[in-house]
Amino acid sequence: MKILVLNCGSSSLKYQLFDMPQETVAAKGLVERIGIEGSRIKHTRTGSSTISKDADIPNHKVALKYVVDLLLDGDEGVIASLNELAAAGHRVVHGGEKFASSVLVDDDVIEAIEECVPLAPLHNPANLTGIRAMKELLPDLPQVAVFDTAFHQTMPPKAYMYGLPYRYYTTYKGRRYGFHGTSHYYVANRAAQLMGKPVEGLKIVTCHLGNGSSITAVDGGVSVDTSLGFGTVPGVIMGTRSGDVDPTLVLHIMEQENLSAANMSHILHKESGFLGLSGISSDLRDIEEAMEKGNERATLVVEMLAYGIAKFIGAYAAAMRGLDCIVFTAGIGENSPLVREKVCDYLEFLGVLCDKDKNGAMIRGNEGEISGGASRVKVLVIPTNEELVIARDTYRDSVKYL
Ligand code: ADP
Repeated sequence: MKILVLNCGSSSLKYQLFDMPQETVAAKGLVERIGIEGSRIKHTRTGSSTISKDADIPNHKVALKYVVDLLLDGDEGVIASLNELAAAGHRVVHGGEKFASSVLVDDDVIEAIEECVPLAPLHNPANLTGIRAMKELLPDLPQVAVFDTAFHQTMPPKAYMYGLPYRYYTTYKGRRYGFHGTSHYYVANRAAQLMGKPVEGLKIVTCHLGNGSSITAVDGGVSVDTSLGFGTVPGVIMGTRSGDVDPTLVLHIMEQENLSAANMSHILHKESGFLGLSGISSDLRDIEEAMEKGNERATLVVEMLAYGIAKFIGAYAAAMRGLDCIVFTAGIGENSPLVREKVCDYLEFLGVLCDKDKNGAMIRGNEGEISGGASRVKVLVIPTNEELVIARDTYRDSVKYL
């Protein structure tokens, strides 16, 4: 059975075609610059080389048509007829308080995702565009929405409420939601599998460290706290986002420089973090390179990042009253031995011991343990696989309709 997994951004569309329940990827690709000059599609059939085509792609519906045509293509395709396609699964960023799990899409679900647009004004409209385009193209195909926020809906109020007047929670749904839920869910469960223990009995801190980063306390398999919040700025410093900042400093800067909310939002989301602090780059590889050459501000970025991550792990060990495992995932988590080693160094008092050789070897998609034999806490590097979770949920939620 073939499941198409889609991740629609405002001008991009990523896809993977899964064979389920075998969980193998038959083809994958990316449509870039949708609605912008220079649109392009890259497609890879598993076991074959990537093809890249320039095309006029004004919207997501046209993009999806190209994807479907490529999947059906005699040379590059992987299906003989559209009947082989069983369902489509969509990444949706925000499900608010309404969705604590994935859901089969119908008109009510589309309306509910629409209602969450004020909470994710850049992402949810793009995700909806993909769902609507798919519905127009293949009206009878079951579609499943998988939410970045859903996994964190188990957080208790003491973790998700802010100390603002309660009316802002009731009026504007102002609370911590958390993101990257699909990734945290996947790596926590994979960690339990690797440890050979049921996830229900484990206290895990999962560190998803990419361009955007979040750290989550997963107690007994459920999220009990996470470092991103109402939006995607708080927590540790990120590529271009500030991480935690005292809101009174933000207000002070706005007053001093007469900035609008939109101006300040741009600074917090796009001009801060590694880029804003270093003045070099938002990419940690560039920062690490500059640090090796003795650049002080690049060194500051790496020190702030490791310190920030370690503080969250310490806090979440307290929140869970224990710690069995730390997982590193996403671009930085999977590829930066330097950051991982510095983080572990703070946590020796909790029983965390990093094995330098194992840590150094764990890059580029490798999966495994980086803690030493004597470490009380297991430290694992696990490449994330959000697409697989979407494929699994889509298979599970759509199979009864087939
Ligand atoms: P996104 O959040 O956009 O999915 P990724 O998970 O791909 O991003 O992570 C991107 C981050 O991973 C960038 O900061 C990049 O510098 C970092 N990264 C990737 N490879 C390495 C590496 N070898 N060493 C250090 N950082 C790396």
